[in-house]
Amino acid sequence: MASTKFKRMLNRELTHLSETSRSGNQVSEYISRTFLDQQAEVELPRPPTENDDPRPMSQITGLRGPRPASLPTAAVPRFGVQTDQEGQLAKELEDTNKWGLDVFKVAELSGNRPLTAVIFSVLQERDLLRTFQIPADTLLTYLLTLEAHYHADLSYHNSLHAADVVQSAHVMLSTPALEAVFTDLEVLATIFACAIHDVDHPGVSNQFLINTHSELALMYNDMSVLENHHLAVGFKLLQAENCDIFRNLSAKQRLSLRRMVIDMVLATDMSKHMSLLADLKTMVETKKVTSLGVLLLDNYSDRIQVLQSLVHCADLSNPAKPLPLYRQWTERIMAEFFRQGDRERESGLDVSPMCDKHTASVEKSQVGFIDYIAHPLWETWADLVHPDAQELLDTLEDNREWYRSRIPRSPTHIVGPDRFQFELTLQEEEEEEEDSDEGQSSALNRSSESPST
Ligand code: AMP
Ligand code: MG
Ligand code: ZN
Repeated sequence: MASTKFKRMLNRELTHLSETSRSGNQVSEYISRTFLDQQAEVELPRPPTENDDPRPMSQITGLRGPRPASLPTAAVPRFGVQTDQEGQLAKELEDTNKWGLDVFKVAELSGNRPLTAVIFSVLQERDLLRTFQIPADTLLTYLLTLEAHYHADLSYHNSLHAADVVQSAHVMLSTPALEAVFTDLEVLATIFACAIHDVDHPGVSNQFLINTHSELALMYNDMSVLENHHLAVGFKLLQAENCDIFRNLSAKQRLSLRRMVIDMVLATDMSKHMSLLADLKTMVETKKVTSLGVLLLDNYSDRIQVLQSLVHCADLSNPAKPLPLYRQWTERIMAEFFRQGDRERESGLDVSPMCDKHTASVEKSQVGFIDYIAHPLWETWADLVHPDAQELLDTLEDNREWYRSRIPRSPTHIVGPDRFQFELTLQEEEEEEEDSDEGQSSALNRSSESPST
């Protein structure tokens, strides 16, 4: 299977990386634990404790009441948020259709309600309130409630990240190669999936939740724990008072939307990354375009695969954004990783890779994240929508160079200047496999074999 080959390739590269230095080892560990499906390990059962909940699985955790919007439809502000800076907010949101909207500015100007403001702007831009008869006051109540279920005290997985993913996906959906490819319902499902994709995120990884025997891991049997939870919360909140934004959809549309949203959000589980990338590569190699030059996707499986990839790319889009934005995301994600690391240390657990503030190298982790994960993914997406994403790919490569040039020099530093991974096709990998007895060539095509600096 294609994904098995990718995993094998990545494993080989990561083994090499981990042998080069301590921080190389940490980056390698981070990538393999986060983006590769782990083999099952045997674990002994934990004896019951007094603190165990006597009513297991009774309800979805983390839910609070709806945020009353209490505004008649006519009084709903233009972007759903009460702000005395609506003019400036409107100015900022003129970039709604652009890659590189300053979502941090939107947060400032919207009283820290970037998700509500961005979704209002996107749905208006696409005229989806009218198409699906979504009452503005219901949309507002739902969005304020949803936004309140993102944790404002987290530095990365808060509603700003959700707003960023929504807006990035919105721009990607408008790429010329996808023009008129997706129906309004598919677009609505994608925006909704992005909006809820990390809701009630606790700021720790799936593995942390599993290792600490959390209620959530129990609830979802250790499988895509967070992603299942985000979906459950996102859908459950629709049932709160005046929150059902889909109430004017037909039963069939609702079912179809729900299925798509579930498929998209479950695909944001980073342990599915390699399979998703391998499938996307296969699609690129067999891609069909219509006479108008847009992608031909004539069955559910292909359509949802592109949408899953699009949402996954949007979730990993921060390294492809203008550098000042990307740097802020990096600071935020590292701060959240370090907080998890502190909790692990305090609890006597092993500190997860990249989560140890005393040893992690931010610059190296970004170069590794781009080389092994973000660049292979975006490069494949760029092939799919060729030539639409070229500029974005250039930005990603410039950003990679920016971080690379800031890696403190040391004799053991291993990331070469022009090294991008996974540039070979599946076919080449098959050929390489045939030669593998010789065991000499690397699985990955390196555009440069420059010595380490
Ligand atoms: P999510 O947690 O759903 O937002 O999925 C995105 C995951 O991708 C994060 O949890 C990180 O593991 C990883 N990720 C995204 N951006 C970065 C980054 N700049 N550096 C390192 N890892 C990242
Ligand atoms: Mg997530
Ligand atoms: Zn996310």
